[in-house]
Amino acid sequence: MGNLEGTVAVVTGAGRGIGRAVAEELGASGARVVVNYSNSKGPAEEVVSSLSKNGSENAVAVQADVSDPEQAARLIEETIERFGRIDILVNNAGITIDKTMKKLTTEEWDKVVQVDLNSCYYTVKAALPHFTEQQSGTVINMSSFVGEAGNFGQTNYAAAKAGLIGFTKSAALELARYNVTVNAICPGFIETDMFGAVPENVKDRIRARIPLGRIGEPTDIARTVRFLAEDGGYITGQTISVNGGVYM
Ligand code: NAP
Repeated sequence: MGNLEGTVAVVTGAGRGIGRAVAEELGASGARVVVNYSNSKGPAEEVVSSLSKNGSENAVAVQADVSDPEQAARLIEETIERFGRIDILVNNAGITIDKTMKKLTTEEWDKVVQVDLNSCYYTVKAALPHFTEQQSGTVINMSSFVGEAGNFGQTNYAAAKAGLIGFTKSAALELARYNVTVNAICPGFIETDMFGAVPENVKDRIRARIPLGRIGEPTDIARTVRFLAEDGGYITGQTISVNGGVYM
């Protein structure tokens, strides 16, 4: 166990990919974890049982589509009902709908902005009264290097992820007085289902662009989240790149 003993973490989209690794890493450090999922019920329940091996109820799976403000608020309320507090909120849920603007529809633009950006406002807004009452909290928003660099065929995703960086800095300013830190992580290319959707020939070109010569693992991101949660008390409003050097 680590020094997150006694804390409660909510990780959105934690049934698979980066979110799953984050839930496991925070759980390994002693946090009680709310494993949010939208569709991946079975995988989310697997995470819960692996975190509750010794029979203790250290984790719970909660279904909520966080792009819906009411469901996002319910996720936070269920966290409070179950564990009595919320210390760490990791806004990880995200989707891509990659198309050039010529082909992209307004619905596809809106969907990505709703899931990748608006959801973070919904969860933070719902957690805010608890953070202010506790006079503490850690918010970590999963942005992307695409939000910094832009990417062909990803106007919707890049706009949402860049928006998250602006949201992070503004929320950090507003919440510092309550001892709440707000930071963004910008992963590079990470080996998950999201990256799996990229065609093989494009993957080869991507690998060739990464100075450290490999695609990142979900644990590369999870360890950064753990660092911020455990030792990041004087870090706020920052955008932390974990990308193998693909964007500097
Ligand atoms: P992934 O493997 O495709 O998983 C996406 C996760 O988001 C799933 O757990 C999914 O849950 C959840 N999700 C999607 N829509 C949701 C909603 N409306 N409500 C709740 N959960 C929802 O993606 P990933 O690669 O792990 O990405 C995680 C985060 O890192 C995303 O924000 C992504 O943009 C960011 N990121 C990824 C990369 C990369 O290369 N992989 C790079 C930079 C940034 P269900 O399965 O339950 O639907």
